[in-house]
Amino acid sequence: MTRARRMTLLVTGGAGYVGSVCAARLVEAGHEVVVLDDLRTGHEDAIPHRARFVRGDVAEAGPLLAEGFDGVLHFAARSLVGESMTDPQRYWWGNVVASVQLLDAMTEHGIPRLVFSSTAATYGEPESVPITEDDPTRPTNPYGATKLAIDHAISSYAAAHGIAAVSLRYFNVAGAFGRHGERHTVETHLIPLVLQVALDRRDKITIFGDDWPTADGTCVRDYIHVTDLADAHELALDRAEPGRHKVYNLGNGTGFSVREVLETCREVTGHPIPAEVAGRRPGDPAVLIASSERARTDLGWKPERAELRTIVADAWDFARRTG
Ligand code: UDP
Repeated sequence: MTRARRMTLLVTGGAGYVGSVCAARLVEAGHEVVVLDDLRTGHEDAIPHRARFVRGDVAEAGPLLAEGFDGVLHFAARSLVGESMTDPQRYWWGNVVASVQLLDAMTEHGIPRLVFSSTAATYGEPESVPITEDDPTRPTNPYGATKLAIDHAISSYAAAHGIAAVSLRYFNVAGAFGRHGERHTVETHLIPLVLQVALDRRDKITIFGDDWPTADGTCVRDYIHVTDLADAHELALDRAEPGRHKVYNLGNGTGFSVREVLETCREVTGHPIPAEVAGRRPGDPAVLIASSERARTDLGWKPERAELRTIVADAWDFARRTG
């Protein structure tokens, strides 16, 4: 990817999964990166060696931003759907209030660009798939509601204060980039859980429902490689326009069922990966598939690791390395 100029960038949540991959790619692209992370869920060893690390809370980013930055990539967030339902306070304070404080600090210090880590959960149960950016946003859990609230706040701040802002709505992120991968203390995501079975760290995987209105009865999701996602962040930084807040969906536009994911994991790992069917997980939509046409057209984004097999193979390399 060609780059116009070297930027100084603040990456909040740069010790987390997507944040650390993006930080690593930005460093490789020649940018100066500062990672701000409280390490509540992130891992210090995931931070790229050539990035400067500041341990702290997003809500207190002000003094750091006073040093002067060309842009902020905001990944730091609470991101567990189930937890957001039982402990909404953590999400409204930790996600929304902290992000508004970040926007205030950006405004105060004249930081011109923002790329925000939004989510498909802002749409809720879709009326039709693939989901476009113009579809209704009706989140079905507080996690999605808080991310949507931040999107609204960003629109207002961009319009009023001239910030060039982009929200990227991720579908199901998976895969890894070298030593940067998915390592949640509380793991809820399908691919890393399945790979834990392949590593003999779990006995079996539980399939949440096989009575969905899909071809094989299991839920269908759109899996996107974390490095393709990172590329979109770099493009978004380049293409952001002052005073505008643009929103893009990021997925491959192809859905895979839970059973198809399992089968691919069995092929990649050579492990039988036993599975049992249980009841549906509350809040799960049957099918989530992204239309990423807008990202392709406006940003010139083109996923390079779109095959499910590649995504799983990279996640497996990482799981074996850390497992
Ligand atoms: N899933 C499953 N068993 C698990 C974890 C997830 O069957 O142990 C299903 C889940 O119901 C969903 C899909 O796998 O249909 C992807 O779930 P994940 O939590 O990875 O991502 P989400 O789509 O919820 O963001």
